[in-house]
Amino acid sequence: MLSMGGPVCQSCGVPMSLDERGGGTEVDGTRTREYCSHCYARGQFVHPIITMPQMIQKVNARLLDLHVSPGSVAKITGALPSLKRWRPKPPEEGPTAPSP
Ligand SMILES: [Zn+2]
Repeated sequence: MLSMGGPVCQSCGVPMSLDERGGGTEVDGTRTREYCSHCYARGQFVHPIITMPQMIQKVNARLLDLHVSPGSVAKITGALPSLKRWRPKPPEEGPTAPSP
């Protein structure tokens, strides 16, 4: 049975315990417990301009692949709007164009 406790990725809502790499990485290669390896790598989002519906689709596919029950999947995707990535941000943290 899937444990729904513990930290979840603040981008896709998937429990960190389901991340085979145990979390994303910062620029210096250290692990972050805030985002999973599917969302965050080397200090930046893997899909920087993904929309919430697109993210929900990806999470659905990923979790069904992991044989998570549809009920649990719905719970995880339903929590997306409350996650750090999708909450309204203060102006100084607004979207910025990626610099080359
Ligand atoms: Zn994630």
